[in-house]
Amino acid sequence: MNPRNFQPESLMMSYGYKPELSEGAIKCPIFQTSTFVFKSAQEGKEFFELAYGKREKNPDEQPGLIYSRLNNPDLQILEERLCLWDGAEKCAVFESGMSAISTVLFEFLRPGDSLLYSMPVYGGTDHFINKVLPQYGIKGIGFSPGDSKEEILKKARNKGVKLVYVETPANPTNALFDLNLCREIADELGTKDSPVYVAVDNTYMGPLWQHPLKLGADLVLYSATKYIGGHSDLIAGAVLGNADLMQRVLTLRTFLGNMAGPWTGWLLMRSLETLKVRMTQQAANASQVADFLAGHPKVEKVHYLGHLEPGSDQYRIFKNQLTSAGAMVSFDIKGAEKEAFKFLDALKLFHLAVSLGSTESLAEHPAAMTHSDVSEEDRKNLGISEKLIRLSIGVENYQDLIWDIEQALNQV
Ligand SMILES: *Cc1c(COP(=O)(O)O)cnc(C)c1O
Repeated sequence: MNPRNFQPESLMMSYGYKPELSEGAIKCPIFQTSTFVFKSAQEGKEFFELAYGKREKNPDEQPGLIYSRLNNPDLQILEERLCLWDGAEKCAVFESGMSAISTVLFEFLRPGDSLLYSMPVYGGTDHFINKVLPQYGIKGIGFSPGDSKEEILKKARNKGVKLVYVETPANPTNALFDLNLCREIADELGTKDSPVYVAVDNTYMGPLWQHPLKLGADLVLYSATKYIGGHSDLIAGAVLGNADLMQRVLTLRTFLGNMAGPWTGWLLMRSLETLKVRMTQQAANASQVADFLAGHPKVEKVHYLGHLEPGSDQYRIFKNQLTSAGAMVSFDIKGAEKEAFKFLDALKLFHLAVSLGSTESLAEHPAAMTHSDVSEEDRKNLGISEKLIRLSIGVENYQDLIWDIEQALNQV
């Protein structure tokens, strides 16, 4: 299937799909079905034995299709394709990024445990950690980009930490966390019998620009709503990792019933065919936009990974972990909320909307929108001020994007 060690982008159109099983159709059909017909009672029995772990898989045996809550060809093929980008053994696709995240947190944490997590995290994740998990006796312990290993360990030792959860680059400031350091911390907190796992929300870098499993993480999570979907037309999530940990995630998914449906799976397969060209163009456009912003008199500061100062610690992490500066650009406008809102309301090509990673460029105000739930103190410490504007750069002509930003800044 992969005689030349083809790159993932070469395999996204065909990998895992057998046309002969679908009347020769070149594309995987939408398997809009709840259940699957067994050839015989004996076959049904064998499929269930395997699905319920009552026996080992025979060497060439494919797990049989039983029922679409357990799996469906559109999800199965999509999951195999997603594995290629991150070099994962197994993947589970979910009906949203939040269902991927909440399923992982519930699977790896029990009452009395603690979760060590990077700050800031996505607003929904923050709410789940600080408002939902405490109701189950699970405590969140946060750490910030500037914290040293000793500072983090001091907070986390003897607290029953079972999982380290990291979002890097952090949203919306693009602050980076060192994943090697997170691995070391997890290993110091865990024991052989009670390991501490590292889970990374890699949504901001998509599957293209950062591969956490190769940097020591045990699990990588995505809101597939963002770059993977990439067209602002679906909600989905994904988790990837080694076969053992993923078996646990897949089992809980089966019983929570929060897998994506076949139609979403099909749309995501279609999206994956253009993942690399989309993201590559988005990053090239973002670099042009960031350079323009950096030279504009109404802009106080640009938060863009391509502008990190060589020699700084953030630059070192950037060089180690990322293959691109990405397509998210934030900036502080001169002034406060009034000036930021004037700018946002004057945009003509950018859409004023939350979310990110799509073909169209989006602009939003984190302090009033995505991060309005974060406490004022945390917002201050994390640099999420009233001046901050977040841009997600799309695939448009970059000169049109710059024209739009310039005319909107002129109206401030
Ligand atoms: C959007 C997002 C999520 C949540 O994903 P949904 O698909 O909206 O449920 C989680 N993490 C990050 C970093 C996100 O941007």
